Amino acid sequence: MKIGIIGGGIAGSATAYYLSKTKSEVTIFEKDFVAAHSSGKSNGSIIPLIEKDKNTSISLLSDYALNIHNKLMQKFSDIYYVKKPVMHLFTKNENSAIYENYLNSENHNNSHLLSLSELRHIDARVSDNVSGGLFIKNSLEVDSLMLTKSLLNYSVENGANFVNENVKRINTNSKDKLIIHTHEGIYNFDKIIIANGPWANQLIKDISGKDLITPIKGQILRMKNIFPGFKISFWWGKNYITTKDKNISWLGTTHENIGYDEKPTPNAKKIILDNAKEIFPFLDERFIVEQTACLRPMTKDSLPIIGRISNNENIFICGGGSANGILFGPAMGKTIYKYIFNEELDNYIYDFSVDRFL
Ligand SMILES: Cc1cc2nc3c(=O)[nH]c(=O)nc-3n(C[C@H](O)[C@H](O)[C@H](O)COP(=O)(O)OP(=O)(O)OC[C@H]3O[C@@H](n4cnc5c(N)ncnc54)[C@H](O)[C@@H]3O)c2cc1C
Repeated sequence: MKIGIIGGGIAGSATAYYLSKTKSEVTIFEKDFVAAHSSGKSNGSIIPLIEKDKNTSISLLSDYALNIHNKLMQKFSDIYYVKKPVMHLFTKNENSAIYENYLNSENHNNSHLLSLSELRHIDARVSDNVSGGLFIKNSLEVDSLMLTKSLLNYSVENGANFVNENVKRINTNSKDKLIIHTHEGIYNFDKIIIANGPWANQLIKDISGKDLITPIKGQILRMKNIFPGFKISFWWGKNYITTKDKNISWLGTTHENIGYDEKPTPNAKKIILDNAKEIFPFLDERFIVEQTACLRPMTKDSLPIIGRISNNENIFICGGGSANGILFGPAMGKTIYKYIFNEELDNYIYDFSVDRFL
């Protein structure tokens, strides 16, 4: 079977990783280089989602995703891939969905609440604006650039072809074959997987007529010489700080709906820093060594799209990872493999099909 995968981010690379273990002829198309966009620049937090009910589709997918990451962490033991607890901080008067979900959920095995004085034992620099925190034990952190590259390299070692070309369109008119047109050539496949991040919107729209994925820009400041570094990763709302290997601390982020522009901006730098100073007042511009920007492939419900496209059973979407695409990426890739090889899928997986938007 000839399978074409469009996109060399985590979604496409994870799919290639699982498919290359079969006898199929797998080809990955990438217009720039592996992990050139958000998969190579993300914060790399792998945090299980806290839902009120542990049997919701989201909780089940999150558990499945975490499970797969724990296996990959053992396989790729040479990259930065660590267990790292998370502290979700609550600021005074803030209405936090995570806090509410925690209070209403039955499963408290991996998380517990801390008062401000308790969490100051973990990091004394937390400001008085914080009222407490939720400690989540079973989280991981990964260098998402290295994970994506490792997944792709593994697939190439297993015989997958890497084609460094920009896909223009998919032609579904031929009866038995699907055709990928790149700017350079034409390729035939039995199955095609659309996994090109926020740019997937155009290919999906050509087939379904709908806009399903929006690019949401996020910027991160990388900082040096913060001593001591942050032993655990701290989150407040959608913002975070964490210290990774080589003693670089990552501070994020923004959520900007401004199209496909990936340039870092001075305004975002100011917003991120001002926001962080409310939690950790000692932070300032002196620590910044790099600023990055990239695009989340955001869906309307912030959840991934995994599965067949409705009007063609041989075309699959593996994308829309939104703000959790590193968490979900490997699980999405493995699910696409199961779809193609007719392996049994848990029922909750169908809740992530594209049909929910059509
Ligand atoms: C600032 C920021 C921080 C984040 N932090 C986290 C986090 O901590 N944890 C988490 O789980 N998620 C996080 N995310 C989200 C996560 O990074 C994304 O959801 C995920 O990387 C998306 O992966 P992808 O493979 O779908 O897309 P991408 O990484 O965008 O990959 C798509 C690839 O397809 C290629 N491509 C595009 N069009 C074509 C074409 N026509 N032909 C050929 N190739 C093409 C691109 O060049 C690209 O390499 C973060 C995102 C941002 C922006």
